[in-house]
Amino acid sequence: MQNSNHRLLLKSRPDGIAGPEHFQKDVQPVQMPGPGELLLESVYISIDPAMRVWISENPGYVPPVEIGTPMRAGGIGRVLVSEDPGFQPGDFVNARLGWQTHPTVKAADTQKLDLSVGSPKDWIGPLGTTALTAYFGLFDVGAAKAGETVLISAAAGGVGQMVAQMAKIKGCRVVGIAGGPEKCRYLTETLGIDAAIDYKAGKLVNAYKAAMPEGCDVFFDNVGGEQLDLALGALRERGRVAICGRISQTAATELYGVKNLGMLIGKRARIEGFIVFDFNARYPEARAWIAEQLKAGKIQQRMHVLEGLSKAPEGLGMLFRGENQGKLLVQVAPE
Ligand code: NAP
Repeated sequence: MQNSNHRLLLKSRPDGIAGPEHFQKDVQPVQMPGPGELLLESVYISIDPAMRVWISENPGYVPPVEIGTPMRAGGIGRVLVSEDPGFQPGDFVNARLGWQTHPTVKAADTQKLDLSVGSPKDWIGPLGTTALTAYFGLFDVGAAKAGETVLISAAAGGVGQMVAQMAKIKGCRVVGIAGGPEKCRYLTETLGIDAAIDYKAGKLVNAYKAAMPEGCDVFFDNVGGEQLDLALGALRERGRVAICGRISQTAATELYGVKNLGMLIGKRARIEGFIVFDFNARYPEARAWIAEQLKAGKIQQRMHVLEGLSKAPEGLGMLFRGENQGKLLVQVAPE
């Protein structure tokens, strides 16, 4: 039995991109679970752009992570000790682990994984939150239909690559925006989407026109800023913009002022933000559909795995420099 819980605590709030200097290591004795609680071993911890928002003074939709407390994070843990009749040692659960190796959590706040649907790694990857975000953002908020053109920003990332494949399965024409030729090749050659735009190559307006001469019906936005502005200009009549994230603005010291909002009027277009948790009641529907696609070999998720909890702060910075190749996570212990 492991006696120590290694943790990473928030040390200070960053101004720009977060990194190791904003966190500090800490070791505590493991806390044995009380009635209705579980002692877990963290196996996979998801690294998400939203974490940068949670460590700011005013995240808005959730309370901020307090200085001196473990960084908030979701992931997959193995049950070591259970004081809840519904869980056994060895079960895998989806839980709010935080950046710690051995968290003690309320059993009611966790979800036991059904390993007949996918492995623990699948549960943080193609069956995890990024995939659910893609599903509800594309099909509900974006209301994508067969034959339409779907444009996606950060298309080679965790959420973006799932949106791209889901839109192809739906029968859409798919255009992805990504940083650099390698990510663009991944989108067109590996995922088989119709066109990719390398935003780092410059002349973005021309690239949008070349990739979408007729414009787009749906824009699934993970980035905000100029990419959103140009997409508003490229929207077709009755177009939809699903605002999933705005990573170009999250850690920016100067915000980009979007100019093309007026285009929504003449185009009778709609722009709508969403939070995946609002669709909680329908996760089983989304997971059943994704599991079917996985089984049929129609969907995959490239994952970028960092080894060891100590890599988590560096990982958070990587997302904002585009250094991740797909869904970013930290493996804390072997499966
Ligand atoms: P990700 O896309 O795997 O990683 C972030 C990617 O953003 C980077 O790889 C980079 O790709 C791109 N990027 C970073 N800085 C940029 C900049 N200044 N300009 C343009 N692109 C930049 O991350 P993810 O976890 O899948 O999340 C994607 C988005 O979904 C985020 O905005 C996140 O906040 C959002 N999200 C929303 C919800 C929700 O419920 N609304 C849930 C989950 C995630 P390139 O190399 O291509 O630049």
